[in-house]
Amino acid sequence: MPIQLDFRTLSLTLMLFSIVFGLGMFAYAKENPKFSGIKTIGAGYLLIGGGCVLLGLRHLIHDFASVVISNVAIIMGVVLTYRGLFRFLDISLRFERWLSPTLLVLLASVLYFYTFYSPDLIPRIQAFSTTFAAACFIGAYGLSQHPDYRSRLVIKMLIGMFLLIGAFFVFRLIWTLHQVVPDDFMNAGLLSSLAVIAGEFLVILSSFATIWMASDELQVELSEIARVDPLTGVYNRRAFDEFCESEFSRALRSGSSFTIIMCDLDHFKKVNDQHGHHIGDEVLRRFAGILKNRVRQHDVVARFGGEEFVLLLPSNNADQGAQVAEDLRAKTAETQIAIPPKTDLAVSASFGVAQYCVGDRDWSAALHRADNALYAAKKQGRDRVVVVASA
Ligand code: GH3
Ligand code: MG
Ligand code: MG
Repeated sequence: MPIQLDFRTLSLTLMLFSIVFGLGMFAYAKENPKFSGIKTIGAGYLLIGGGCVLLGLRHLIHDFASVVISNVAIIMGVVLTYRGLFRFLDISLRFERWLSPTLLVLLASVLYFYTFYSPDLIPRIQAFSTTFAAACFIGAYGLSQHPDYRSRLVIKMLIGMFLLIGAFFVFRLIWTLHQVVPDDFMNAGLLSSLAVIAGEFLVILSSFATIWMASDELQVELSEIARVDPLTGVYNRRAFDEFCESEFSRALRSGSSFTIIMCDLDHFKKVNDQHGHHIGDEVLRRFAGILKNRVRQHDVVARFGGEEFVLLLPSNNADQGAQVAEDLRAKTAETQIAIPPKTDLAVSASFGVAQYCVGDRDWSAALHRADNALYAAKKQGRDRVVVVASA
């Protein structure tokens, strides 16, 4: 039995998909205001759905609404869909800003002319197919400008979708150049039905991709949260371990060196006891700030636990590490932390420095040496730097 692709039924399903997914996008954007572009995509779907409603009312409402407005609304919906995707992905395409409005005005003029001055279905289908294909190719081109498009399956999928639909409308345009098209659009045959299916494909796939990309972003955010110490904003121990692991592999591969500095605030328990836990927390934040401000961009600062911090200095030897630690010690000692109403609190910290040595079984060997050096600094009277001489 041949498959019946009834044009009206298909239009009804496209209308339903577009309206449900459009409203869904608005609801999602309301719950997740941090994502930009989702409302634009939702507005695009609603325009596609609205255009289908007007198309379905052909012969029941004025031709201007059922022919001109409906078709322009559908293309405008496609334009808003890719514009929303561009906004979501932070893509800016300068020429698109004037190109798509120009295409829409041209489409409206051609549809108007061939509806009221020289009624003819074929040039109307051709104009619609041309602009639909152009919009899809602009969408695909814009997405291909994303710096990570090669590594992100979801963007490649969207590009593929736009190219496929664009190619279909080019085919439809070429077909109408050679075929006799029936007068009534509602009985225009398989290609018209496939055009509606292409619209459904666009709405379903792009909404699915949008939610996919949103969940990717949330996942990145969550894994970042899991790597950061909430009190001080520096990395936590887990993240530090990962950085050290990869630095150790690099040292093995390329023979580079790295240095670890362990540091611990002196007599911190007293700060808590005398001024309260909240002042203790503020001291921890300030100390973390001193560490972060001094180091290079690719150095890693982490809170190891309590009032103990640790630094990883890639490509540095123990002498360079000692210099950094001495700067940090001096900066900490000279920093006064104001405690309302009028007390200034001075703190100090002790530092242990050790570098990676050829023959270390893993990176924690250097950490262990730095920890011993820190212990020695505490024993020698605190507020000082002890360096493990490199072998
Ligand atoms: P030392 O010079 O030998 O390092 O002495 P210390 O007093 O700094 O070391 P000790 O290990 O005796 O005390 C550490 C204190 O740090 C005890 C604990 O209450 C405090 N501490 C640990 N984590 C936090 C935190 O997140 N906030 C605050 N305010 N205090 C903390
Ligand atoms: Mg301490
Ligand atoms: Mg401690």
